[in-house]
Amino acid sequence: MLTILPIPAFEDNYIWLIHNGRHAVAVDPGEAEPVRSFLRREGLNLAAILATHHHGDHTGGIGDLLQDRAVPVYGAVRGPLAPQTTPVAEGDLITVPELPATFGVLAFPGHTRDHVGFTLPGALFCGDTLFGIGCGRLFEGTPEQALASLKKILALPDDTLIYCAHEYTLENIRFAKKVESGNPDLLQWEAAAQALRKNGRPTVPTTLALEKSANPFLRFEAPDVIRAASAHAGRPLNAPVEVFAAVRAWRDGA
Ligand SMILES: [Zn+2]
Repeated sequence: MLTILPIPAFEDNYIWLIHNGRHAVAVDPGEAEPVRSFLRREGLNLAAILATHHHGDHTGGIGDLLQDRAVPVYGAVRGPLAPQTTPVAEGDLITVPELPATFGVLAFPGHTRDHVGFTLPGALFCGDTLFGIGCGRLFEGTPEQALASLKKILALPDDTLIYCAHEYTLENIRFAKKVESGNPDLLQWEAAAQALRKNGRPTVPTTLALEKSANPFLRFEAPDVIRAASAHAGRPLNAPVEVFAAVRAWRDGA
């Protein structure tokens, strides 16, 4: 039986820890200390590290964790730690015998070119590709690439739990309401998410079903989103990639 829980890091990052009571896998350990203290407190041994993309707030703790314990690192790591990392590509399977668990890999270029997602049955660790009611800024990839990555997420089962790497939900909802002010699912989730945050609880993981119903970056085919994106862009938009790119640009300037 695996437990999946968030370890808060920095201002608003979540390092996801998957453990079986004895061994643990850390996803995107941007900082070592919160992971170390959790492992120590719970009596867990680190078995592997997964990195969704090279940004420092996802990889910065890897070096220190490897000094504590030499474990395999899979994913997108640049710089001096790259030689100790096993690069992964879509379709790869990563087996962690200590849990035991086998993670799948999806390529998610967009936020960065090297971004990947890791799957377990019913779960997606998507880093900065998709957020609660939002998506990652396109630092390296094109809207075409990012949309193709999001479409891979849309193809997963509706009850897939979306383990993203930041607590941005309320901020994202504020923007989403500009795009789709009358979306009842969005307004309902806003109230629930506010209650969670008031009690100091994370709003993630969410489900893919919830994101499909309220995340404007996945709703490039919804008439209200197309209308709002066209109005903001000042010209009629039709193709999903145009709608997605316009909503992303709108968010960047918001
Ligand atoms: Zn990032």
